[in-house]
Amino acid sequence: MRLIVQKFGGTSVKDKERIFNVANIITNTYKNGNNVIAVVSAQGDTTDDLIEKANDINPHASKREMDMLLNTGEQISASLLAMAIESLGYPVISLNGHQAGFYTDSNYSKARIKKIDTERMERELDKKRIIIVTGFQGVNRYDDVTTLGRGGSDTSAVAIAAAMKADLCQIYTDVDGVYTADPRLVPSAKKLDEISFDEMLELASCGAQVLHNRSVEMAKKYNVNLEVCSSLEHKPGTKVKEVTKMEKLLIKGVAKDDDVVRIAVVGLPDKPGIAYKIFSLLASKKINVDIILQSIGRDGTKDISFTVPRDSAEMAKEVLESARDILRPNKIEIADNVTKVSIVGAGMQSNPGVAAKMFEALYEANINIKMISTSEIKISVLIDRDQGVKAMNALSEAFINN
Ligand code: ASP
Ligand code: MG
Repeated sequence: MRLIVQKFGGTSVKDKERIFNVANIITNTYKNGNNVIAVVSAQGDTTDDLIEKANDINPHASKREMDMLLNTGEQISASLLAMAIESLGYPVISLNGHQAGFYTDSNYSKARIKKIDTERMERELDKKRIIIVTGFQGVNRYDDVTTLGRGGSDTSAVAIAAAMKADLCQIYTDVDGVYTADPRLVPSAKKLDEISFDEMLELASCGAQVLHNRSVEMAKKYNVNLEVCSSLEHKPGTKVKEVTKMEKLLIKGVAKDDDVVRIAVVGLPDKPGIAYKIFSLLASKKINVDIILQSIGRDGTKDISFTVPRDSAEMAKEVLESARDILRPNKIEIADNVTKVSIVGAGMQSNPGVAAKMFEALYEANINIKMISTSEIKISVLIDRDQGVKAMNALSEAFINN
């Protein structure tokens, strides 16, 4: 018998009507002779609302207590969905992260799955039950509940699919698949039939919100058969897989990430060891650095600038300020009005001229580039924040719509 893992996001279970809609998708799959394990997110904006509630009481609440709180959101949707399925007359059981055997490390609020003990889920499937599992959570070795980080339910679903060797893992959302760009920002964006794990991974880490990037990493590692589809419309979604068929599209996606800040350390001594000092200081604070640019030395000084996620900017500035005596910069500047726009596509590996075409499109849209970075299948540029959407549309026009 086939095992299908289905994950439903917050909007797909936001109210009674949507819960029954999901209950129907699950029971139809079950009726067709499949085992089903469904993973659910918290309803609608529940997680945000819980965070707001916590901040109101104690903005410095410990991460352990935050996880205790956020765990409740998924528990509500899992039990309600199980009740809906019960009412339709099907055998079903809901399990929280602990009951489903999700063992994680103790990095509260961003825990990593260490192993999944599948025994309980196997037993329930043997009893012919549909299983509903709370997304985004687990338990650590102290028996405390943890969460996997925002958007982590996708990862829960893929992890179950990998551990249970499922035939298919379907991620149901309120869009009907993966688009070449966010269709709310780029109206001409197209839905993709397929995308490779690597491309999806780059897109997810460049700001595309469809899939949690750890879920894609895991799907690639365990070769999970992954599909993104709509919980509201019956049509084929997007398949995420190892290799995709040759497509005309050189570029599979255009993404924008507003969660970046540029820090410029200006007027550093132009001598060996300076970059090492800066980036080891940042690493010691576990600050994730993305694009890095160093100017050519002139008159014995040079500038180094780099980007970090917004919530690390203050700490990055502090740690560099605290090393002023060693680094001796003229100034340290933070620029917050920037955004990173990226194009992603495996096709660029074998096609020269992609960068030139990208810069031409930006030039024609009169957009100034502040920083550039490239990888095998991605080119990112840092530009003014207020030009982000214009850039996405210009790049879609250049690469996708013709
Ligand atoms: N409910 C969690 C969140 O909003 C996890 C998820 O939806 O994947 O981040
Ligand atoms: Mg999500």
